[in-house]
Amino acid sequence: MGRRKRKKITYRPVRSLPKIFTCPKCGHKTMKANLKHAEDRVLIVCGHCGEQQAVGKHELTEPVDAFGDFIDIYYKDQEYERLTRREEKLLEKQQYSELSLVYSFLSDTAQINADKALEEYELNKDPEDLSNAEQWQETARQYKENEKKLTEQLKSGVIVDAELEDEVYDEIEDNPFDEGEAKISEKPKRKSNIEDVLGDLGFLEF
Ligand SMILES: [Zn+2]
Repeated sequence: MGRRKRKKITYRPVRSLPKIFTCPKCGHKTMKANLKHAEDRVLIVCGHCGEQQAVGKHELTEPVDAFGDFIDIYYKDQEYERLTRREEKLLEKQQYSELSLVYSFLSDTAQINADKALEEYELNKDPEDLSNAEQWQETARQYKENEKKLTEQLKSGVIVDAELEDEVYDEIEDNPFDEGEAKISEKPKRKSNIEDVLGDLGFLEF
């Protein structure tokens, strides 16, 4: 009978999970997650610039999970803002195919924000959340409609993409630490009313 090989026990050092994070807005390592904020919410706050966001939690949520959720929201909001600016550029350069994709993304994101604001409202019954939910819903509907109109007009050949003589994206991308004040529960921020923009050009009228 062979000797039983002794099972080797290895001790791995317990790595502690990070509790302080770098703020995507100001770049300082001053972001903390307050897990005791509310029963089902974690409040992420930057001690330097004051950026904050509440995210959902369950019993296994660690600060690092909450921070991850915050980052997702933060960049989604930034992407939304960036694409609302690109909308104008694409209209100006008559890049309608891409514009319809932009509308599709904006509509989906506005819908997510509407759903989240409604969730918030159901939790705390704050009428402002309800009003935000309604506004996001309306924004989502408008973008969806724009997307549909553009797609139809492109298909029927009423409008065509212009030849590009220069880059659409000749603008320098924004400094990531410059913006990002958008929060989910905030009202949709748009520079221009889409209906106005499209109405002015007149090409989307049936
Ligand atoms: Zn900060």
